[in-house]
Amino acid sequence: MQPTTSPYIEVRRSRIHGNGAYAKKDIPRGAIIIEYSGRKITKEESDSVYEEQRERHERDAENNGAVYIFELNKTWDIDGNVPWNTARYINHSCSPNAEAVNTGRRILIQAKRSIRKGEEITYNYGYDIDSYEDHPCRCGSPRCVGYIVDEDDWPKLRRMQKKKKRRGFWKRLFR
Ligand SMILES: [Zn+2]
Repeated sequence: MQPTTSPYIEVRRSRIHGNGAYAKKDIPRGAIIIEYSGRKITKEESDSVYEEQRERHERDAENNGAVYIFELNKTWDIDGNVPWNTARYINHSCSPNAEAVNTGRRILIQAKRSIRKGEEITYNYGYDIDSYEDHPCRCGSPRCVGYIVDEDDWPKLRRMQKKKKRRGFWKRLFR
């Protein structure tokens, strides 16, 4: 399979993590930048692939992004960790300029706002909050919440972190 291409992006070393996708030219808001392609897998397969990718990431986070699985619909997920999926180089950010849009058949990366030539393309990976501590974020954005978590869950994340801090306080007090 030939790697997917887009007139809008080029892949090079990223300041956020590993390689990243950069705007090769100005991208208008709403433009479809590239498809997030991959292997269609069943939910069952998805669980084991998830574990595998998570472990690999833990062993060598510099060379292995975290998890490349997207939920497509009730039956299928997409494993984007395949050599032809150029969109896998797109990094996560807490203030992204693009977003992943699920049409039920395909995952498309779409510009959330107009993007200038040379900007790094990012979207929110939308990870589940349950295992947030496995996915620290170093996107460098002023809005960074410290973890790769779906924006809908940010209020919940803040509550969880506050609770944790309080617990730490009591532990220190009574040691
Ligand atoms: Zn961040």
